[in-house]
Amino acid sequence: MSPVPSQPALRPVVDYNRCDGKGVCTQVCPWSVFEIQMLSAAQRGPLSLSGKLRSLLHSGRQAAVARPADCHACGACVRECPEEAIRLV
Ligand code: SF4
Repeated sequence: MSPVPSQPALRPVVDYNRCDGKGVCTQVCPWSVFEIQMLSAAQRGPLSLSGKLRSLLHSGRQAAVARPADCHACGACVRECPEEAIRLV
């Protein structure tokens, strides 16, 4: 009998062109996967013009996936993010 292939782990990804840094994800995640942090220059680089303006409005502070390995793929952050900025991949 062949072994059952394991399911690849799902991890949250934040669309920084949409994130407003409101921190709802930090409140709803039961495993404290997110932190509100300053975006790095590497994270800011690929933003669209509107994403850069949005980031400036929030002093560059947006939701970071600080502990991706702790994600249990419950989907709460995806459902509750007011900007629909999070997806599981
Ligand atoms: S899917 Fe659940 S466990 Fe994973 S980051 Fe979102 S809220 Fe946290």
